[in-house]
Amino acid sequence: MSEYHGRFAPSPTGPLHFGSLLAALASYLDARHHQGRWSVRIEDLDPPREDPTAADSILRILEDYGLFWDGPVIRQSERSDAYEETLDQLRQQGLAFPCACSRRQLGDRLHLGICPTPGQSDFAWRFLCPSGELTLHDGLQADHSYQLEQDIGDFVIRRRDTLWSYQLAVITDDAFQQITHVVRGIDLIDSTARQYLLQEALKLPHPEYSHIPVATEDNGQKLSKQNLALPLRAADAADVLWQALDWLQQHPPASLRGASCQTLLEWATDHWQIEALAGLTQQPAPAGFRRRS
Ligand code: GLU
Repeated sequence: MSEYHGRFAPSPTGPLHFGSLLAALASYLDARHHQGRWSVRIEDLDPPREDPTAADSILRILEDYGLFWDGPVIRQSERSDAYEETLDQLRQQGLAFPCACSRRQLGDRLHLGICPTPGQSDFAWRFLCPSGELTLHDGLQADHSYQLEQDIGDFVIRRRDTLWSYQLAVITDDAFQQITHVVRGIDLIDSTARQYLLQEALKLPHPEYSHIPVATEDNGQKLSKQNLALPLRAADAADVLWQALDWLQQHPPASLRGASCQTLLEWATDHWQIEALAGLTQQPAPAGFRRRS
């Protein structure tokens, strides 16, 4: 299985926290268990939401945890030409159209085909969503079916403020990097349908997707930068790694508590069983990572 190529693709909106470590670790272990490559891609597409120090701090913490990646780190902020090409291809096929509608004007009409308010200079580009039903298979979660017109609709691929949408950038880069397997949090599972449709339209290969559960706070909300999840520190990396493996249902032996990150990762690569997460959608974060509610 040397053709396996996985990736971790953080948005640099803040420092790495326990929730994002889980996605990094699961994608890393799945790749290494299959003797595959593992890349890191910084998804810095939205400067107003970003913290200018976050990308470097995320990379440093990954290294502190022993999660070393292959090849160069790709930064989406440097890939505009590639995204422009993707948009051009969709336009040439008649699958992208300009749209000046605000969300309020659209209401719950998701499928337009053509913009009802043309002729404005300020517009977004939308993907012309096909109609019908799409059923997606996931490595961990149950099959999910979408009624495309109602559930997906003509989604934005380039924003009115000219920023690229996550969906367009991610499929361009997954194809460019020849990513074969995507392991990420279940909060992104509905994005997979949009990504699948874009890949289909552009005749790009579909990676295999596995969506792992998300870690939650006491109040059931996902641990996230927006919810001020605690940043990870280098000082207790090995202890946190042990807890992350336990959270990922890998049952690391108690005797490995106190072992180095390298020893833990070697054990976890050998014993990795992604199936242990099948059907799980969320679990509380370990006590030390939850904020008291
Ligand atoms: N950049 C996205 C995030 O940080 C993840 C993208 C992906 O894994 O497809 O939520």
